[in-house]
Amino acid sequence: MTTTRDYYEILGVPRDADESTVKSAYRKMALKHHPDRNPGDKGAEEQFKEAAEAYAVLADREKRARYDRFGHAGVGGPSSGGAGYDPTIFADFGDILGGLGDLFGFSGGGRRGGVRRGADLRYDLEITFEEAATGTETTLQIPRDESCDTCGGSGSAPGSSPQQCSQCRGHGQVRFQQGFLTVARTCPACGGIGRVIAKPCQSCQGHGKVGQERKLTVKIPAGIATAQRLRLAGEGEHGGPGAPPGDLYVVVHVADHAFFLRDGDDLLCDMPVNFPTLALGGQIEVPTLTDPTTIQIPKGTQADTRFRLRGKGMPNVNGRGRGDLYVRVQVAVPTKLSREQKALLEQLADTLADRRHEPVPAGSDAERPFFDRVKDIFG
Ligand SMILES: [Zn+2]
Ligand SMILES: [Zn+2]
Repeated sequence: MTTTRDYYEILGVPRDADESTVKSAYRKMALKHHPDRNPGDKGAEEQFKEAAEAYAVLADREKRARYDRFGHAGVGGPSSGGAGYDPTIFADFGDILGGLGDLFGFSGGGRRGGVRRGADLRYDLEITFEEAATGTETTLQIPRDESCDTCGGSGSAPGSSPQQCSQCRGHGQVRFQQGFLTVARTCPACGGIGRVIAKPCQSCQGHGKVGQERKLTVKIPAGIATAQRLRLAGEGEHGGPGAPPGDLYVVVHVADHAFFLRDGDDLLCDMPVNFPTLALGGQIEVPTLTDPTTIQIPKGTQADTRFRLRGKGMPNVNGRGRGDLYVRVQVAVPTKLSREQKALLEQLADTLADRRHEPVPAGSDAERPFFDRVKDIFG
């Protein structure tokens, strides 16, 4: 069960709501839609689950940041390829209801059994424009907690073993009287695990995990663009015992190119050309992603004319061919002229009949919106 609705909308809180607002909105929703208060009401049950899912994300600073950035896909939602129902969503439930969860016959599920999926990790990778064009392979150094070798991950010093928690006698929950109700809470002594470590392992201070750097080789496909991400399944943080690890998301940032602007798979390049070549026609050399190539400028070419070089753009990241390269010519106006050049230009000017300047009628420049749009994208 995963929802596609906006988590903020589900809880009815603004996007900048602080932690306590989120918490109290969730508490209200959870109490209102709890299945035990609405027996047989499927709609209430769905709303209840939806609220729990929304809260699980918005109450977790890291998950919330990922959700704000990537939407449901960033937190294992439907579009990420179906992480599906996450049992840990309900792990916090007993806590937030202050024991009411248990009163309603709702068992927390996740945490007690230790089935807690490992956290996802994010790695921001910067690559050059050229690397994005050709694809590349890179080695990442990922810090991750690994199981401690000394204690085998148990957290107990070698030769000792965890002992039953004396406060909850291994149940992971403590019950107490509140008014005329008996309520249960997660045991504060053992955190709900039911056992405590009597003699902590020296190497990991009883955590069972030690921080290590891992090297991972990642293939970056040709044609990747900024903000696209690669998911490395199972390379996130380790989960609890018997639980799957999280995933590692590599978020790619492609550096700008010196003169190519990118629009999807197409590239754009402005090319200053001198006036005689535009007027008389000629050949100019233009850069491409690989070797420079030559294009023919027809005589009488106007400024802003675009030339399309098919298949000279970026490769499509999904392997669907390549984009095109657009070369837009601009008029190169010389700023330093020799005496001879100046005289020649003056001679030319005298021969040009139309010395009156007329504005171009508005709306005749159909190409401009295209480039305006491109400029928008690249800021
Ligand atoms: Zn250890
Ligand atoms: Zn305990």
